[in-house]
Amino acid sequence: MPRTHNGQVDWAAVRADFPLLLREVHGKPLVYFDNANTGQKPVSVIEAIDGFYRRQNANVSRAVHQLGTEATDAYEGTRRRLAAFVNVRPDELVLCSGTTFAINLVAYSWALPRLGPGDTILVSRMEHHANIVPWQLVAERSGAKIRVAEITPEGTLDLDALTRAMTPDVKLLALTHVSNVLGTVNPVRAVCREARRRGIVTVIDGSQALPHRKVDIAAIGCDFYAFTGHKMCGPTGTGALWARREHLQAMPPFLGGGEMIKEVSFDGTVFNDPPHRFEAGTPNIAGFVGLGAAVDYLDRLGMDHIEAREAELLAHLTEALTRIDGLRIFGTAPEKAAVVSFLVEGAHAHDLATLLDLEGVAIRSGQHCAHPLLQFYGVAATCRASPAFYNTHEEIDAFVAALRKVRKLLG
Ligand code: PMP
Repeated sequence: MPRTHNGQVDWAAVRADFPLLLREVHGKPLVYFDNANTGQKPVSVIEAIDGFYRRQNANVSRAVHQLGTEATDAYEGTRRRLAAFVNVRPDELVLCSGTTFAINLVAYSWALPRLGPGDTILVSRMEHHANIVPWQLVAERSGAKIRVAEITPEGTLDLDALTRAMTPDVKLLALTHVSNVLGTVNPVRAVCREARRRGIVTVIDGSQALPHRKVDIAAIGCDFYAFTGHKMCGPTGTGALWARREHLQAMPPFLGGGEMIKEVSFDGTVFNDPPHRFEAGTPNIAGFVGLGAAVDYLDRLGMDHIEAREAELLAHLTEALTRIDGLRIFGTAPEKAAVVSFLVEGAHAHDLATLLDLEGVAIRSGQHCAHPLLQFYGVAATCRASPAFYNTHEEIDAFVAALRKVRKLLG
């Protein structure tokens, strides 16, 4: 089902690929603006999962029978498609449940055995808890310290401060590619270059980048890149960690069990080669079949088209919100993904989100798993509207009209 013709995308046809968007909520047409939390799934992904369970379901890598071979081919096929999608080698891509698992794998397998007292882990102010708490756990157990790379009030990285903070004691830098609260797109390539010159290992959280733009991990030059499938049209419980080959080969396993071994005896165990060494147990096979279909879907549509469409939606949304009196936007970086955090004077974020839900509008309110960032801005919560390429300009108008209406109710 081609959705592009002569370089033009039929966005109405694209939207029709997402059946959930047709439903109503509280008797109103759904406006789903919580895509930074999780994205909706196209029919091709839903059918791929359904088809796997109807025709192929078997465990991977263990069976020589036909179904086992097909299941293994499907699972490994996703690894290859995903690797091509982000321009890395398949054998450097560990499939896992998502960014949280991926970063914890780096924390326990790479960082914990290497860091000690006198070492520092540099973490930016705008990180999701998934890229803060694992490092705090490592620091607690290793004696390493955490240092915070601060941001500017506009919500961009303070690059001078970041470079100054890269002192010889810093062994690891943890940085998000795109902020889930501010939408800021960080200059990860330049930052990784600076870090590499100083021998600092870089861990990039790509959860919010892959859904919005073409990501070439090899070109970024990081050491580790973590991402999640469910924000990029794929199923929940899927994601991956890319790591430089030399790191994967030097890292001990994180979890022990089946699949990650070559040979086990009570005298000792020989571990499998990477990436299988880090994939103990039965994986989310059907989920990865779905993720393969998601990658195909995004590829066919073209990430450049998605980026341009979301830039238009973001410009419209930002302009419309700016015209609301007393509305403050958090994050005004020049390069932003379609994520808008805001507060309206005199209205609590949760009250706004609750009343908007009654109007059929789904946005997120709260701290967005980024307490230190909200502490920086001195606020307890924000609202966050995050449209995706399948949303429409009409939905932005409906959202803004609903926001004006519920604000009156609260005022
Ligand atoms: N990092 C960022 C920037 C995120 O937005 C999220 C998801 N909200 C995560 C990490 C965690 O991803 P997951 O829950 O899929 O592991």
